[in-house]
Amino acid sequence: TNPMNNHVTVLEIDGNALEHNLHYFKNKLHQKTKILAVVKAFGYGSDAAKVASFLKDKVDYFAVAYAPEGLLLRNHEIDTPVLLLHPLPAHFETIVAQRLEPSLYSLDLVRHFITYLEARRMEQFPVHIKFNSGLNRLGLSQSDAVILQELLAKTKAIRIVSVFSHLAASEDPNERDFTLDQIARFDAFYDTLNQKLDNTPLRHILNTSGIFNYAEKQMEMVRLGIGLYGISNDEEEQKELENVGTLKSVISQIRTIDKGESVGYGRRFIAEKTTKVATIPIGYADGIRRSWGNGVGYVTINGKQAKIIGSICMDMLMVDVTDIDCKEGNTVIVFGENPTVPLMAKKLNTIPYEILTSISQRVKRVFFRE
Ligand SMILES: *Cc1c(COP(=O)(O)O)cnc(C)c1O
Repeated sequence: TNPMNNHVTVLEIDGNALEHNLHYFKNKLHQKTKILAVVKAFGYGSDAAKVASFLKDKVDYFAVAYAPEGLLLRNHEIDTPVLLLHPLPAHFETIVAQRLEPSLYSLDLVRHFITYLEARRMEQFPVHIKFNSGLNRLGLSQSDAVILQELLAKTKAIRIVSVFSHLAASEDPNERDFTLDQIARFDAFYDTLNQKLDNTPLRHILNTSGIFNYAEKQMEMVRLGIGLYGISNDEEEQKELENVGTLKSVISQIRTIDKGESVGYGRRFIAEKTTKVATIPIGYADGIRRSWGNGVGYVTINGKQAKIIGSICMDMLMVDVTDIDCKEGNTVIVFGENPTVPLMAKKLNTIPYEILTSISQRVKRVFFRE
């Protein structure tokens, strides 16, 4: 059942939709291909612990960016393997204590981590090797492969569970040549490294839009992020996914103002006629950008669009409900089915990832499934 609390601002997370989206991607992959669910940044702004608890028996791996995010999963009794995308030396203690599996992205980091483990007489600690194939963010270079082999030959401290890389433009068909070149570089690095290994690490390079555009390169695992949360970079694929996050609020107050009166700070809205104004308890401190105000964006109330008028305040925003049958206490949809996050992103000149992850921790998260 849907525990929607009618009197606060909540971000509802639909477990059924999450599961639908997971199956959609599973169906695009071979049955034996492993799935890593990316739950970094609070599960793309949703609720990492709830999402991961729900998915833990349905996926093979989780990924988070930083060690405290991995600790949060462990504190919720999630013992699925966790790939830690950005291990910092300051987090080594947490990494080892929580058995988070670091992505080692430089020879220095490999050396540091081996030294750390050897000082504690630890062996076979699972790690992942990150290769920079063209994003130029984190990763080893092809020329590091031989030195890495030498380091590995001298230690038992680490065991390479996977080798992976990240695509720079997997969503863009115009960059197909570049993407295929990234994959070819990755293959070459893996082949060099693998010649000297006892085990055969998993390989993975595809993110959500990589699965959509390059499924034939799925290798042994894929890293599914935004798609799980119901968002695609492709319009056709978007139709196949179900909406996961609905940001809901409520009408706190309704007033009618006369022609010539203004609304909000700076008097940015001036009524051209008698106008019914509703005040909603959500503002830019909750992650709704100010640039979504002043007539750019809208919310949905009782199935109808209500334009945001005046500047969005820190904790509130005002909408025009002149033509909407509504009363104080009625539910307001800030995003979800309408407006959708991709639509907001487009109008605000950003990407859905930023909209989702900007929803501040002040907003209560409610996970539900039917
Ligand atoms: C965030 C991230 C992903 C997930 O990307 P989506 O586009 O959300 O599917 C995969 N791999 C790495 C390394 C990431 O940082």
